[in-house]
Amino acid sequence: MILTVTMNPSVDISYPISDFKLNNVNRVEGAVKTAGGKGLNVARVIRLLGEEALATGVLGGTIGGYIVQELTKDKIGNDFFNINRESRNCIAILHDGKQTEILESGPVLTAEEGTAILAKYERLLSNVSLVAISGSLPQGLPSGFYGRMAQIGREKGIPVIVDTSGEPLRQVLLHKVKPFAIKPNTTELSQLLGRELDESIRSLKQALTDELFQGIEWIIVSMGRDGAFVKHGPDFYRVTIPEIKVVNPVGSGDATVAGLAVALKNNQTVPDVLRTAMAAGMLNTMEEKTGYINPDKFKPVFELVQVKKI
Ligand code: ADP
Repeated sequence: MILTVTMNPSVDISYPISDFKLNNVNRVEGAVKTAGGKGLNVARVIRLLGEEALATGVLGGTIGGYIVQELTKDKIGNDFFNINRESRNCIAILHDGKQTEILESGPVLTAEEGTAILAKYERLLSNVSLVAISGSLPQGLPSGFYGRMAQIGREKGIPVIVDTSGEPLRQVLLHKVKPFAIKPNTTELSQLLGRELDESIRSLKQALTDELFQGIEWIIVSMGRDGAFVKHGPDFYRVTIPEIKVVNPVGSGDATVAGLAVALKNNQTVPDVLRTAMAAGMLNTMEEKTGYINPDKFKPVFELVQVKKI
């Protein structure tokens, strides 16, 4: 079983309002409400790839209750740390071909809750073979929180994938014990290194040789339609993908993490790990729904991914 960690999940509400009016009443039909948060997307795609997923993290209130209900509908096991505040809503207003987002920051956690969450996480590790941690850290927790989670995993011999950005990602990389895998996109990688990156092989190789990345087994730099650039141990790979018809690319990075998790859990060969990760990301872009894939299309897409050692 693969454990997914979502520390700040949300109910994502999408309001299609064709003639959105500021400072006025807007009525909406066809509102869509889904369980959101990057880790929940990862859990959903893991299930669709045919593996068992256990979702954990932090939930509270009636919004938390709705998230559990949605996960249960999707047959995703869940065991969250419950708090006595409401989980958050995130609203996207779709208007005039644009998207205006209103994102609640979510509940602020206490240091005591942080300690209790780590204890629960450690208990859950006894039943899982791999962990994927995704998304932002709630306010109130120390920025080294994910580093600590990766360390607990390593102490127990369980690979931990961390997919986050900004300060939490930097802190994970500065932690004395490194995660097993990370999946920054090119923007996150440039932010981390504090400079613009051109996407040449020479420049990417040089970037991933930075001391910050020492000790991480897998670094998958996802590059949207350009596939990925990868460092595995001392080896580098360029992964290229065919052009496909993209319907909605939101959540492709999460689907890529799900593919990576499933492939690593099943001890696939290096090229197949990369093909599975890319295929899952690509399949997500082919669907309307975020963090969703059609598993029937997996095989033909998988076979079109090219992996070259460089
Ligand atoms: P993130 O969502 O984290 O920014 P990316 O945009 O790099 O991640 O997408 C992750 C993966 O999803 C890519 O490596 C690729 O396999 C697939 N993907 C994303 N966008 C496209 C696209 N426009 N065409 C084909 N595949 C895509």
